[in-house]
Amino acid sequence: MSSRPVRVRFAPSPTGPLHMGGVRTALYNYLFAKKNKGTFVIRVEDTDQTRFVPGAQDYIMDSLKWCGIMPTEGPGLGGDFGPYVQSERRAIYRPYAEELVKNDKAYYAFDTSEELTQMRAQAKEMGMPNWQYNCVTRGSMQNSTTLSSDEVDKRISAGDPYVIRMKMPRNEDIRFHDEIRGWVVVNTNNIDDKVLFKSDGMPTYHLANIVDDHTMEISHVIRGEEWLPSAPLHVMLYGAFGWEAPKFAHLPLLLKPDGNGKLSKRDGDRLGFPVFPTNWTTAEGDVFSGYRENGYFPEAFVNMLAFLGWNPGTTEELFSLEKLSETFSLERVSKAGAKFDPDKTKWFQQQYLRNTDDAVLAEELAVFLENKYPVNKLTTVCKLMKERATFIKDIWTEGSFLLEQPTIFDEKTTRKKWKGNAVELMTDWSKDVLNIETFNADAVEKQFKAFLAERELGVGAVLPLFRLLVTGKGMGPSMFDISEFLGKEECAERLTIGLEKMAKLKPEI
Ligand code: GLU
Repeated sequence: MSSRPVRVRFAPSPTGPLHMGGVRTALYNYLFAKKNKGTFVIRVEDTDQTRFVPGAQDYIMDSLKWCGIMPTEGPGLGGDFGPYVQSERRAIYRPYAEELVKNDKAYYAFDTSEELTQMRAQAKEMGMPNWQYNCVTRGSMQNSTTLSSDEVDKRISAGDPYVIRMKMPRNEDIRFHDEIRGWVVVNTNNIDDKVLFKSDGMPTYHLANIVDDHTMEISHVIRGEEWLPSAPLHVMLYGAFGWEAPKFAHLPLLLKPDGNGKLSKRDGDRLGFPVFPTNWTTAEGDVFSGYRENGYFPEAFVNMLAFLGWNPGTTEELFSLEKLSETFSLERVSKAGAKFDPDKTKWFQQQYLRNTDDAVLAEELAVFLENKYPVNKLTTVCKLMKERATFIKDIWTEGSFLLEQPTIFDEKTTRKKWKGNAVELMTDWSKDVLNIETFNADAVEKQFKAFLAERELGVGAVLPLFRLLVTGKGMGPSMFDISEFLGKEECAERLTIGLEKMAKLKPEI
């Protein structure tokens, strides 16, 4: 086996938004290229013009960019093997299809769609519901294996529509080695004479895919398991052209969280998590939500995706893109389908949020809050709150009390704790607060402990009241840290306002 420079490609069809399974395929290609100092190419496979969706190509490029997995060659990026969009390459395919006909590996077929439908119906009647255009049936159809060459020439010059079909040999085993699945053997009796070139002058996916992978010098084809059934035909085609086939690696399917079946585009809405990297708006205006708009960091999304079907063989789970590029290998990609886990996805996001600098988070929070608050204040908000958040927006949902006085007081804490001598205790404590000279977390804690000792009270009897009045909440970060952040005046003011509001509630005895 010659060792060619590593060149891999991601070959999406612009038939809609890129599902996260597609992003994972792109990611593994990217990682494989990086690891092997190779080139990552993107090629847009748009030979099926009937399924073309405007905007899909831009969506794909934009999503890959968001994930940080941009190819080095591709549409709009340049490279020596372009164009990288198949419809712009249409002129190159026909000669290849003709070459196969000349070498008796393919043939012209003139059957009209009515004739094909009739043939299928007839076969069904005869108890053969799975009629195929193959080595057995081709003998009874209208093609260049049954018509004389004069007749074929006449029909072609008369402009009769035709397709070019692969001449699948009878009863031959096709073997190839898949980098993930090992040896795969398929008998040609199970494969029909696939159309390679269509009557509209366009190649089919199979022909264009093989010609492009060959001419773009692709060394490894890394793609989803759904393409495994096509691989034997592709291997045959490489043989028919006398080309060296690339190595194949078919990635495991992404499964629904319960493991029952493939994770589909519709699952996102049904099960309450995004299946697309970024928001996708249909021509009708329907929006399918994406990870980006749901507040995920691209690093967390990519880390999660990398682990859907691959693992490093250790217990380590947090991998930056760079670290993934150093560690990734196809040997550690599993054959078995990978169950998508929405909770684990959140966990990854949480970890990345925690590991991000407070100042960086604050910049993002500032944008989220439309620059309503200064970044230095938000930096402390992030520092105090990030352990309790998954997304940037949670920092605010949970921690807005740090910058805005509470207007609502947690009902459960009020019910459980606002009783007995609560008013008296908090009135006394607010006086103590005002007496603290150097007002910082340590000083407040010291004063608080002295307050408890004097009254022989436990923390649980007083701290929740202090928290309730100052923050409105039943839980949160250290009250001493919160106090330091708010400062003496603000703390005292909140205690006073809180007491006034709570007074209306009359503590129960
Ligand atoms: N165009 C195919 C797709 O949409 C690519 C299959 C392949 O990578 O060969 O997924």
